[in-house]
Amino acid sequence: MHDICERFTSTHKRIIDAAEQVDRNPRSVALLAVSKKHSIGDIKQAIDMGQVAFGENYLQEALEKMAALAQYPLEWHYIGQIQSNKARDIAQHFHWVQSVDRLKIAQKLSQLRPTEKPPLNILLQVNINQEPQKAGINPADIEALAKEVTKLPHLCLRGLMAIPMNIQSPTQRKATYKELCGYFTALQHQYSQVDTLSMGMSQDLEAAIAEGATMVRIGTDLFGPRS
Ligand SMILES: *Cc1c(COP(=O)(O)O)cnc(C)c1O
Repeated sequence: MHDICERFTSTHKRIIDAAEQVDRNPRSVALLAVSKKHSIGDIKQAIDMGQVAFGENYLQEALEKMAALAQYPLEWHYIGQIQSNKARDIAQHFHWVQSVDRLKIAQKLSQLRPTEKPPLNILLQVNINQEPQKAGINPADIEALAKEVTKLPHLCLRGLMAIPMNIQSPTQRKATYKELCGYFTALQHQYSQVDTLSMGMSQDLEAAIAEGATMVRIGTDLFGPRS
């Protein structure tokens, strides 16, 4: 029971230490709590710790949690793969989608976003290490997709997200994050609403913050191992 509370406190400290290490304001790094495969009870403990933003990968699971937690003012981020038959529910229920990597999906999300809601916040997922099996666009395609996404009326392009290759040395990981930050900075110069660079997970949030992450996505470090 106490566990999640302690884990949040220690993750907050990791983020603060990592930011101060590189002279960044810790408040410039948002914490997304990745709650996939963790219970509604766990999420309630996180809410008690002041957490508002939650990331989910599986639509059905996410919808159940949203319904059960509807009384709380939470911000839900979809971070999983998007099948086009799921686009309607994603567009209706989430506040952010971090895993957009095709124009077709972006068009659907815009089309299906309820007009009474604010635009859906979008991050483009970049396959930063260009792994054959992995979701995400190639870095060379960021600019073209960004251009199209910014034309869609019910979306707001906020930045980039990436999941780097699993096995990397600390040096390689830093280089990967630095490269991604370069693409992010270029995008920011073009579009004033772009403000979010989502990179860094439990294992490597320090490296991500050192290289400019504005949002880290943490599951295991906050909630413990997933079953
Ligand atoms: C599961 C997941 C995370 C969290 O990973 P941890 O290693 O548990 O911190 C972050 N981002 C994405 C896209 C994920 O799918």
